Amino acid sequence: MTGPAASVFPALMRIRAGCLPDLATEMAAVGWLPRRLLIVTGAGPSARMAAVARESLAGRGTTSATETVTEGTVEECSRLAQRLIAEDVELVVAIGGGRVLDTAKYAACRVGVDWVAVPTTLANDGVVSPVASLVDRDGVRRSLAATMPIGVLVDVALIADAPVATRRAGVGDLLSNLSAVTDWRLSEAGGHDRCDEFSALIAEQAAESVLTTADLESPRALAGLARGLIMSGLAMAIAGSSRPCSGSEHLISHALDQRLDVPKNAHGLQVAFASLLTLTLQGELTDELLTTYVRLGLPTAPSALGLTGEQLLRALDEAPSTRPGRWTVLSGRSWTAPALADLMSTVHARLAEVRLATV
Ligand SMILES: [Zn+2]
Repeated sequence: MTGPAASVFPALMRIRAGCLPDLATEMAAVGWLPRRLLIVTGAGPSARMAAVARESLAGRGTTSATETVTEGTVEECSRLAQRLIAEDVELVVAIGGGRVLDTAKYAACRVGVDWVAVPTTLANDGVVSPVASLVDRDGVRRSLAATMPIGVLVDVALIADAPVATRRAGVGDLLSNLSAVTDWRLSEAGGHDRCDEFSALIAEQAAESVLTTADLESPRALAGLARGLIMSGLAMAIAGSSRPCSGSEHLISHALDQRLDVPKNAHGLQVAFASLLTLTLQGELTDELLTTYVRLGLPTAPSALGLTGEQLLRALDEAPSTRPGRWTVLSGRSWTAPALADLMSTVHARLAEVRLATV
């Protein structure tokens, strides 16, 4: 293996239509075709894509074993890590959506094995990031520290085959960087934290790159989304934490995730909606952002996520306690139903203005 283990920057990166069949050629070009390679994939459509990867590797004389993961749990990561040790695996190639990538990422990190990311959906910024979102042994979803991939291949043709809702969630997660970065800067201004302006800038630029995205279908839009999500991951790797891409809006989402009586929604949609609320509190909600929400069909009301006002109120109250050390615009606030109604009516008045202006 000549791969730069645990490097912040993936040494191999390809974003184009039809690059999956070239996986082995790309890996050989950087000297990454070990004898013991494990493909980690899901049970759904990604299994077909794993077959394409296996064929590509076989064409270069590399036999690869396959592990199918389905749970996205810490328990499943333990089983995968045991296999990596037992079979002395030298490199993991993860092919699938967020659940597959996060499972492979965390297991590979725990045993010190390099991994390559081949995302089949672009639903969140975990594609190239040092953070794995997994369900822990107590049933609660947690963000766990892991390692960056040494290589990333985004076959835009595969991404286009995934449901459009996954890309909408991906755009939502990316746009939520705007409130996260504002929280970080406000936190520094209030003397709570130090903001690393370089990683904040990268996260902010990544979000702004999709403000003008016209659609969720064209190859140009998908490549732009992939670049933005990868930049978000790099911002987190440089910062050494999720802070540039995870602020008050993510804490609201975590609070919703921790409740068993709340409807399950895509992470990117939850943080996108929550971001509208926290940007309003921060005084940073822009017409440009609202126009993007309307154009791309991002959620602008709790009902779009199946949430009641009571559930949202509880999540706002509980959000700061999901990450006690992280100061955000929600820190120290307590919520009442009239306060939430006021906040929602401010957001909806701004939305109505934007809708009128675009008619
Ligand atoms: Zn996120």
